[in-house]
Amino acid sequence: MSKTEELRKRDLKNIWHPFTQMKDYETEDIIIIEKGKGIYIWDTDGNKYIDSVSSWWVNTLGHSNDRLNKALAAQAEKIEHVIFAGFSHEPAIELAEKLVELTPKELTKVFYSDNGSTAVEVAMKMAYQYWYIKGYPEKSKFIALKNSYHGDTLGAVSVGGVDLFHKIYKPLLAEIHQAVSPYCYRCPMGKCKESCNIECANSVDEILKEYKDEIAGIIIEPLNQAAGGMRIYPPEYMVKIRELCDKYNVLFIDDEVAMGFGRTGKFFAFEHANVVPDIICIAKGITAGYLPLAVTMTNDEIFNTFYDDYETCKTFYHGHSFTANPLAASVAVENLKILEEEKILEKNQPKIKKLTECLEKFRNLSYVGDIRQLGMIGVIELVKNKLTKESFSFEERIGRKIYLAGLKRGAIFRPIGDSLYFMPPYVITEEEIDLLTDIALASLQEVLGN
Ligand SMILES: *Cc1c(COP(=O)(O)O)cnc(C)c1O
Repeated sequence: MSKTEELRKRDLKNIWHPFTQMKDYETEDIIIIEKGKGIYIWDTDGNKYIDSVSSWWVNTLGHSNDRLNKALAAQAEKIEHVIFAGFSHEPAIELAEKLVELTPKELTKVFYSDNGSTAVEVAMKMAYQYWYIKGYPEKSKFIALKNSYHGDTLGAVSVGGVDLFHKIYKPLLAEIHQAVSPYCYRCPMGKCKESCNIECANSVDEILKEYKDEIAGIIIEPLNQAAGGMRIYPPEYMVKIRELCDKYNVLFIDDEVAMGFGRTGKFFAFEHANVVPDIICIAKGITAGYLPLAVTMTNDEIFNTFYDDYETCKTFYHGHSFTANPLAASVAVENLKILEEEKILEKNQPKIKKLTECLEKFRNLSYVGDIRQLGMIGVIELVKNKLTKESFSFEERIGRKIYLAGLKRGAIFRPIGDSLYFMPPYVITEEEIDLLTDIALASLQEVLGN
């Protein structure tokens, strides 16, 4: 038995993988990864793959980055972890300063946790407790959008709206108000680009009109409902949400977990809309894909509401064992230095243009319904019928077939539903964008024809 076969066998004997029907491994092989460099990862048989999904959207600067490796090793020599109540450390302090510098002046306070879901949980508890302390305990519900994704812990699932992932857990969840979500390709209001006046935001307005007294906040994914199929929407929607939050006195929670750290072409996605949220959640790209770390940022108004004598019981009783892990924080600080010193966002601009050009390769295929792009994300939505926009059926498993076709050609695709997307590490070159999209084209043609 080869080394790879042996590792596969041992893996499947004991491990339950995430978001995976384990029975699929009766007919496909799990890939055992040995090493990575830049946009590439290698398996134990020496096959090389382009990591076009940035290892589940976390990797920004490529695998095994020299500067990040050094920062991590140096921090390990000092302190690997320490309790974060009563104690602090320089990496966490420096990172908080940098984040405050990078965000609008209103966002001044950094609460650390360790993954995107916890960043969202923190935001929800913070928002509720803020109103509670202010004397509005009835403001205990949230507005979330249909088709949204905010993580897999129960609070985050409560504000999730992807039926395939979330519906079954309904009996376990907090009650929320679900609003219509923007989806330009299949506009819920029956509009097209020319006639659009962001009517889809009216749904939030209607909910607020009736229920504002019981609503703590609204949570959205900025500019892109990512896990819900990379549904990119215009910044004007976020402007409307900010206006509605002000009008009805509810908090605006912006979940930047997937879109932060340059993914959309700007540092944070909310910058496209020129709005300032009350709370932002960040994670994924914060350590460039190295280690789990997350942040929930907020303003003085919310922070000061909790700030009082201990006996008043306004403490925010929340914290995780690995809050502000020093290894992760030191890598995050180095990541921010690299982004700035090496002018990564500037250097991404021609790559974004190149991606726009390369997406045209798919335009005329009979099964390509929509092509959309947001910064370093390119999306191709596949349809069975271009005219009627009829989707492929769930049973056809188009996405899995494209994944397998991509692997054979040296690229990792992980379509969501019928949407194939490219979300590579920023170190990808223009030539590699060309190569990646060529591989995608060949893979699509193998599965769906010419
Ligand atoms: C991935 C994601 C999360 C959850 O982050 P985890 O680190 O996987 O818990 C939350 N919100 C959005 C928008 C995400 O894409």
